[in-house]
Amino acid sequence: MTDAPTKPVVARFCPSPTGNPHVGMARTALFSWAFARHHGGTFVFRIEDTDASRDNQESYDLLVDVMRWLGLDWDQGVEVGGPDGPYRQSERMDIYADVAQKLLDAGLAYKAYDSAEELEERRDAARAAGLPSGYDGLHRDLTPEQQAAYEAEGRQPVIRFKMPLKDWTFDDLVRGEITFGSENVQDFVIVRANGQPLYTLTNPTDDALMGITHVLRGEDLLSSTPRQIALYEAFAQIGVGDGTTPQFGHLPYVMGAGNKKLSKRDPESNLLGYRDQGFLPEGLLNYLALLGWSLPAVEGVERDVFSLADMVEAFEISRVNPNPARFDLQKCTAINGDHIRLLSGAELQERLVPSFQSAGLVSDPPTADETSLLAAAVPLVHERMALLNEAVDMLRFLFVDEADFVIDEADRAKQLDDKGLEVARAAREALGAIPETAEWSTPTIEGALRASLIDGLGLKPRLAFGPVRVAVTGSRISPPLFESIELLGRRRTFARLDAAL
Ligand code: GLU
Repeated sequence: MTDAPTKPVVARFCPSPTGNPHVGMARTALFSWAFARHHGGTFVFRIEDTDASRDNQESYDLLVDVMRWLGLDWDQGVEVGGPDGPYRQSERMDIYADVAQKLLDAGLAYKAYDSAEELEERRDAARAAGLPSGYDGLHRDLTPEQQAAYEAEGRQPVIRFKMPLKDWTFDDLVRGEITFGSENVQDFVIVRANGQPLYTLTNPTDDALMGITHVLRGEDLLSSTPRQIALYEAFAQIGVGDGTTPQFGHLPYVMGAGNKKLSKRDPESNLLGYRDQGFLPEGLLNYLALLGWSLPAVEGVERDVFSLADMVEAFEISRVNPNPARFDLQKCTAINGDHIRLLSGAELQERLVPSFQSAGLVSDPPTADETSLLAAAVPLVHERMALLNEAVDMLRFLFVDEADFVIDEADRAKQLDDKGLEVARAAREALGAIPETAEWSTPTIEGALRASLIDGLGLKPRLAFGPVRVAVTGSRISPPLFESIELLGRRRTFARLDAAL
């Protein structure tokens, strides 16, 4: 089934800039983006920074950065502007004050003067009586005289929205029909006593003014939806927005280890960590897409690895699975490896440059020598890596000079014991015996080492080459040995074997 919307799609991503961007956020952004792109619609990127005590500029910068790194481009929003800006809520305070006033004037909201203690007392009493414990509506219909009396006491009111007394039913794009009983959605605060507007007001106001048609967001926000729909109905009466209510779709929870909800604080939540470890944005996005969605099978064949363009083409919201999705770091990494193998050698080389630069192995910009060494080395690791940083680890030995070359101590203990050193000595002699006039090439190197260690010493390949590998590459995990020795060159190979001996 297709879910063709009847008017042009306007979807949005509207995070609050607190802390580090996390995986759940990126999944929400991706699904909203893919939905907008699939329907040829507009994607809005707004920042919900109305809580000055928690929001910060650094977090804002990271969000913008990470969206750009992921390649989820936006048509309207922060940094790019658009017809309904500004797109940072902290710059829209007068708009919220105006909307709150209009709601008050129309009798759709009211000032409530209850103190925190009074509220708590009544809440406890309601609970004890087995009644719903939300706001009991006591200040809903105060007379002007009662209000004046509270004001004379010096009380600062909050503004509460007057929830119409009815049940709330809506068709969730992911979950189907959902009903909240009237008793579960009480009058709620939209403006604090200090005048600060809350998410409950700012988010629907902006959705209305920005013409948002589809709201895709996490399941944790499901219980706020009836209140938002009620506000939309109120907006239609006071002329905020064009009078239509967006459709809502709530994306499934993402579960982490131990089947607990993945929390922002779990280390595998931190999006920047993925960038730092050398995930490709397309690899990470591919995996995030699988957290609740899958590409339709073609002729019975399922496909886990796909491009963003494949996702956009196929993204039907009706395929989103409402059941919790499990975040599996191993699978995420494996999918990234698949995307690395889909790159050409030249593309991989280009993607690797920043990782080699941050490891201090390559200059900025790379020299001609560094570039040609990297070009020669990439084919050695292309098939064996899942993360860009693994290439840095495997190829480091080629990019450091002798002073900075280190051998992994555990590998040295295992491979370069007395027996191993004997093997290394034989290897040094065999390689030293290759005439200067002969080409220093993989076949020559392989021939010399096999003749000496396998035929001469009668060793099994693993025992023959392990010590040589550790001595010249510094690790038991390296690219293929003979090719590595060729790239390292005669002089440096000899220096490393001599140093090990
Ligand atoms: N700023 C809200 C959040 O960070 C967005 C809520 C929504 O998508 O409606 O969760």
